[in-house]
Amino acid sequence: MELKNCMESFVWQALDEVIAGYPDVCACERCRYDIAALALNFLQPRYVVTGRGETMGRIKALEQQSKVDVVCAITNAIIIVKATPHHTRQAD
Ligand SMILES: [Zn+2]
Repeated sequence: MELKNCMESFVWQALDEVIAGYPDVCACERCRYDIAALALNFLQPRYVVTGRGETMGRIKALEQQSKVDVVCAITNAIIIVKATPHHTRQAD
């Protein structure tokens, strides 16, 4: 058995979709992790006990309920990372 924060999966699942709407935000690995971390800090954690796939149904149900919150948190995180990227701008 293990504890899993569902929000972490939801944030990674939604990340690319939300970032696609902001073509001017850096989508390098560092910035993606920064965005994910910030978004998770905005969200209440949703821990579930996982083991042998038995909680998948519940995770799915939570997913519907939380999708709007997750997208909103990622959007806020993108705005912050865009304003203050944690690395120097890459020349292109
Ligand atoms: Zn970057």
